[in-house]
Amino acid sequence: MTMTAPKPTRKNATKAAKRAKGNATNGSTKATRATGRADRTYDVIVVGGGHNGLTNGAYLAKAGLKVLVLERRHLVGGAAITEELRPGFWFTTFSYALSLLRPEIIQDLELVKHGFMPLLMSNTFAPGLDGEYLMFTQDHGQNQQEIARHSKHDADAYDQYSHDMEMVCQAIKPLMDMVPPDIFSDDPEEMIALANLGSRFKKMDKRVLHNAVRLLTGSAADFLDDYFESELLKGYLASSSIIGTKVGPRSQGSGLVLLYHSIGEHDGEFGAWAFHKGGNGGFTKVLARAAESFGAEIRLEAPVDSVITKDGRATGVALEDGTEFYADTVVSALDPRRTFLELVNPRELPDDLVENIQRFRFQGTSSKVNFALDGLPTFGDLDGSQFRGFTNIGPSMDYLERAFDDAKYGWYSQNPYIDCAIQSTIDADMAPPGKHVLSCFIQYTPYKLRESDWDSEKENLGDTVQRTLERFFPGFGDLVLQREVRTPLDIERTVGLSEGNIFAGEFFAPQMFFFRPAPGWSQYRTPIDGYYQCGSGTHPGGCVMGAPGKLAAGQILKDRTKTGASGKTRVAARV
Ligand SMILES: Cc1cc2nc3c(=O)[nH]c(=O)nc-3n(C[C@H](O)[C@H](O)[C@H](O)COP(=O)(O)OP(=O)(O)OC[C@H]3O[C@@H](n4cnc5c(N)ncnc54)[C@H](O)[C@@H]3O)c2cc1C
Repeated sequence: MTMTAPKPTRKNATKAAKRAKGNATNGSTKATRATGRADRTYDVIVVGGGHNGLTNGAYLAKAGLKVLVLERRHLVGGAAITEELRPGFWFTTFSYALSLLRPEIIQDLELVKHGFMPLLMSNTFAPGLDGEYLMFTQDHGQNQQEIARHSKHDADAYDQYSHDMEMVCQAIKPLMDMVPPDIFSDDPEEMIALANLGSRFKKMDKRVLHNAVRLLTGSAADFLDDYFESELLKGYLASSSIIGTKVGPRSQGSGLVLLYHSIGEHDGEFGAWAFHKGGNGGFTKVLARAAESFGAEIRLEAPVDSVITKDGRATGVALEDGTEFYADTVVSALDPRRTFLELVNPRELPDDLVENIQRFRFQGTSSKVNFALDGLPTFGDLDGSQFRGFTNIGPSMDYLERAFDDAKYGWYSQNPYIDCAIQSTIDADMAPPGKHVLSCFIQYTPYKLRESDWDSEKENLGDTVQRTLERFFPGFGDLVLQREVRTPLDIERTVGLSEGNIFAGEFFAPQMFFFRPAPGWSQYRTPIDGYYQCGSGTHPGGCVMGAPGKLAAGQILKDRTKTGASGKTRVAARV
């Protein structure tokens, strides 16, 4: 890979100069002097080398544009990185699994050529508190038999549930791959797009449409209660309804999160999940290689301070050390708070947009605890080598709801929901022979704690998680060689996701589709001419799916074709 470090040339702004001083003491030594403005002029500058920034840059470079991706950290990937935190032990520090990645991105960006290698999870394990468990595989019939061990009624209902969910997912999935129509525009093109969307819903089967509305507006518990009686099964299924979001399974809005997490696929297999070889960091390295193969330049340790604007249009960016780069298109792959309130002066934006972004809900509620293990945990007669996918610690709906109760009142769950995976059982290169890595996604851990803070509570959270795992896997503590705790505050500090929200903004109806990130600004443009957004805070949202990066690239290319540059005529008319 040919990623390079920044070249400082400008040290005039007080803020930038101060930050540059900070960088020097942080040991950022790779900077070299740029030769001239021409060297620093591009067609497009993408701010942020997370997977959406990389996807966006790759599509634009493939279209023939001269692209520069600027990443603040020493590695690409953002929330999707893999790090060696102990010799031979590779951790997916934050994000760990793949399912929602849009399949056409794999083709369009020729990712297989660059090492794309998802490894299918062959099962999911859901232990109960009483020694019982559910072990799901990719075989529907086997899963029914497994459920029948707990409830004959539920085994029958599982058929109907799987069918109903798949029908809703198939109906909703196309929305993930389209730019939301602008419902506030009088442009005939937008009106046609809206009419097409309406007719899509009108053509839907009555039951499918009704189920979709129930999921999009209601609670996961109400939906699941209609089908099932087994608490263990309902706990397992409801777990997908709370991921990354400050809702319990009985809260309205959890249905939407359940639906979102059910839409994925792996190799054409509906709802399947995979680990990428080398973790999600392995995946983002593949993306970076693809982007570079199309000619994109990626600069690391290049924190952008601000977007440079002139007469209402973007003309480039200034790094924290004062270096400037120029382009008539600048794309922010950061979250909406950083895109609209930090990278540009909010006074350049309409008041209603600023108000909407100030109100945009983040309230991160998830943490990560990663373990280096001396061996495999066991559960009754099952030894850990059989856990070749997610292990779901959410043994009933009540368990999940009580975990949420703690968060409602400003504290972290004392019996948390844990979605964990021994990634080394699937990808042996993640740990030395005979040793293992366990990646644990934790909820609920609200960003704002009542009468305390995360720097004080961090290791207490680690202890709580370890204690919980010990309940399910007796002797677990004896296997622990090392532990890494990453709270919402760490996520914010390390990745830059505001309040540690894993999706760059909560998933709930007023922040989705037409309204993500704000009413009137869901089409990846901004009121500043030539300034675009492509992070997870835009439609369709977070997860390692690449859709925002891809859809934003489409809009940029469309605008450039229309205007010969970056959408000047069209965007100026909106402001
Ligand atoms: C703990 C955790 C677990 C998760 N688990 C999963 C999972 O298993 N599967 C899944 O699909 N999703 C998961 N997610 C969600 C998913 O990883 C994120 O939604 C997604 O990776 C966000 O991608 P992005 O490119 O939009 O933004 P980010 O990944 O946030 O990338 C933004 C990039 O911009 C950089 N940056 C920030 N400020 C600047 C600046 N001023 N100048 C230059 N660069 C800057 C950052 O360093 C970062 O690299 C998880 C997230 C977290 C935090």
